[in-house]
Amino acid sequence: MHIYDITAPLSPSLPVYPGDPEVTITPIAQLQWGDAANVSRLVLSSHTGTHLDAPRHFFEEGMAIDSLDLRLLMGPARVCAFPHVTTHLTADDLRPLGLAGVQRLLLQTPNAALWEKTGFQANYIALTESAAHLLVEMGVRLVGIDYLSVDAFECQDFPVHRTLLGAGVLILEGLDLRTVPPGDYELLALPLLLAHGDGAPARAISSCTIACCIGVASQPPYAFGHSMPT
Ligand SMILES: [Zn+2]
Repeated sequence: MHIYDITAPLSPSLPVYPGDPEVTITPIAQLQWGDAANVSRLVLSSHTGTHLDAPRHFFEEGMAIDSLDLRLLMGPARVCAFPHVTTHLTADDLRPLGLAGVQRLLLQTPNAALWEKTGFQANYIALTESAAHLLVEMGVRLVGIDYLSVDAFECQDFPVHRTLLGAGVLILEGLDLRTVPPGDYELLALPLLLAHGDGAPARAISSCTIACCIGVASQPPYAFGHSMPT
């Protein structure tokens, strides 16, 4: 079995969505100070780095992190790649994926390159409202993306979050999918058990058998995208 750790490490250099606090990790006890152990204070938002959005993020009465069905957060997941897109993903981009029966979908986009840059990058690839509606219609229960929001930065009222979370579709944001070949995996993405949380950082991994990885390498049906501009 091969395991891909698709979690962005929590560190002060991690980009955060504008308005969220920067990650700070402050030692409050240190062996080298003569303390009995090393201990740190963490400052971060519930939507820092790789994290899960619960419906409560946008709906006061929505389900919170500690009420979610854990079965949605573990099980088969498909990683689909859009290596050449230059605009936000639409229903037309997603329709050819043949998502019937896919409950967990992780979207790999050119956002991967943004993790190499310092600070928050507003020009990430997100989803459009049409894409969100299609995912709900197709019965997808969890959607993951490889930067800090499923909504475009320029959006006004977060229609993708509202559509997905309103339909009970969980959102996994801030994934690092740089090393993961498109294909079918087992996903495990467990958020911190934050009481009444609107979201929470998660450790996310995807795993597959070696045979699965070989199959993916020789059969690329999961890579889609607009052709490169000429
Ligand atoms: Zn979030």
